[in-house]
Amino acid sequence: MIVAPSGAGKSSLVNALLLEDPALKLSLSTTTRAPRLGEVDGKDYRFVTKEGFLAERDQGRFLEYAEVHGNFYGTSRAWIEAQMKTGRDVILEIDWQGAQQIRQIIPEVQWIFIFPPSFEALEERLRKRGQDDEATIQKRLAAAHLELGYAHEADFIVVNDDFEQALLDLRHIVAASRLRSGSSMARNPALLRRLGV
Ligand code: 5GP
Repeated sequence: MIVAPSGAGKSSLVNALLLEDPALKLSLSTTTRAPRLGEVDGKDYRFVTKEGFLAERDQGRFLEYAEVHGNFYGTSRAWIEAQMKTGRDVILEIDWQGAQQIRQIIPEVQWIFIFPPSFEALEERLRKRGQDDEATIQKRLAAAHLELGYAHEADFIVVNDDFEQALLDLRHIVAASRLRSGSSMARNPALLRRLGV
């Protein structure tokens, strides 16, 4: 799980990571937020109405969901369960509320928190992006203060001051996660048999 305040540069880092590591899959979230310019339904998010979202929620279709900045966001239960069956490495780009829920359901999950180098940098990135109006930017900055308060619950902290360094840190975390005993053993059943483990 990758969690960060809006403007911390999370999506650029995740996109770079996905490009170089085809074994990683990004979970496609469902949201009631309106698409931003250039966002594509089915690629960036599944965009649905609030009524549609609530109906899916009531049918238990989300493994987790949360209201973030006034919109609903949720992770598909069926998709995650299918990935887990095949043993695929999955990235969830979600908020701290979703991360807390997932941790209850999948205790072995790794939670990575991305820090911006400063609040000034965060504000600058939100403005440069040019995708949100002033009220939205202020809402996101206020939410960032709250979100940062949950960083101590994460397993890893990556500071996105220098992009290349942050990407390198993420690569190391993914590599270390794959070497955790549970994941490693699940990938090597034949070796375990030969070693009598
Ligand atoms: P944005 O609207 O900027 O794309 O995302 C706003 C926030 O919602 C970000 O913190 C993002 O990580 C979070 N988010 C995106 N998808 C999900 C999801 O499926 N579940 C939860 N809980 N949060 C999500």
